[in-house]
Amino acid sequence: MNLADLYRDLHAHPELSFAEHRTAAVAAARSRDIGCEVTEGVGGTGVVAVLRNGSGPTVMLRADMDALPVTEQTGLPYASVEPEVMHACGHDMHVTWLLGALDGLRHKDWTGTVLAVFQPAEEYAAGARAMVDDGLFDRFGRPDVVLGQHVAPWPAGEVRYRAGTTMAGMDSLTVRLFGQGGHGSRPETTVDPVVLAAATVLRLQTVVSREVSGLEPVVLTIGSLHAGTKSNIIPAEAELQLSIRTFDEAVRRRVLDAITRIVRAEAAASGAVQEPGIEVTIATPMLVNDAEAAERTMAAIRPELTVRITPPAMASEDFGVFGRAAGVPSCFWFVGGTDPGLFADAEAAGRIDQDVPSNHSPRFAPVLEPTLDAGVRALVAAARAYLR
Ligand code: ZN
Ligand code: ZN
Repeated sequence: MNLADLYRDLHAHPELSFAEHRTAAVAAARSRDIGCEVTEGVGGTGVVAVLRNGSGPTVMLRADMDALPVTEQTGLPYASVEPEVMHACGHDMHVTWLLGALDGLRHKDWTGTVLAVFQPAEEYAAGARAMVDDGLFDRFGRPDVVLGQHVAPWPAGEVRYRAGTTMAGMDSLTVRLFGQGGHGSRPETTVDPVVLAAATVLRLQTVVSREVSGLEPVVLTIGSLHAGTKSNIIPAEAELQLSIRTFDEAVRRRVLDAITRIVRAEAAASGAVQEPGIEVTIATPMLVNDAEAAERTMAAIRPELTVRITPPAMASEDFGVFGRAAGVPSCFWFVGGTDPGLFADAEAAGRIDQDVPSNHSPRFAPVLEPTLDAGVRALVAAARAYLR
């Protein structure tokens, strides 16, 4: 299997969450070629590929498939051909790695079962739940361990992980602020939701700085703010979308309570006649690596690749849903994808944040090698740590 061609093809044809039809078809066809039993349409567009060889442990390997609503600016010859859709998080790399790992395990010099899971809609933090709810573990068996990996903006080929809490829990909120619309020349006849939204955005920034201990990591980002259509119309409504990242349930509760209090109070301060709407649209638990599984997995990867410990990330993942739902240990790690020369230059200049495009950036572009090879080797080594 030519993994570089496969990767370039997937990269050029990104698909949004729960619309990964072409990607799923590619994953299914390649898995069949390798000799897997393949089931499509699990949890929407999810694909399950099973490689069996007698009795023994079952290892689940997971790759997510979806892309993002980002306009690619990498200038790569294999850049996205889909307008405003891009594999900006590297899930194309994850699919390629997993197919490469299945190919590497096809000769069955092991016993047990490899349960390869191609998951939709990670970016909605909904795909893992959808597959579990569609009977993933009832239909295909409960694995003994769940393993997964993500490409990251570190030197290509380098593996980083940690035991225990690895990624933050995430809550996504949609806040609807109701004003009263009217003519832009007569604000006295209206309740202006634009001013209300602006005041709310600024006040919400005091939650992290004034209401949470400096020792507790929390992020509160307002990634979307929408109101109005035209300069001389005061609209009737404004909408905010918030993303909250926390590592502790008590802190999370406190932050969510503070948001509710501030949103309601700002609406009241504006004279809004209708209570604002506050809806949690996504809630993803923290990603916690089982300490024993992490050490066993990394002991297998260490002879192959450079392995380092990483601090916890404020980013979030729905990978943890699988291990929780199956009630088995899981381990998730990161594989660097940044050109090592570029990374070294940025590090020397103290400009990593500025010069190394991170996941979700329109310039995010993992180098093909050694990223492809490292991810496949890590996954195969990790799987073999559990297969007999
Ligand atoms: Zn992402
Ligand atoms: Zn991702």
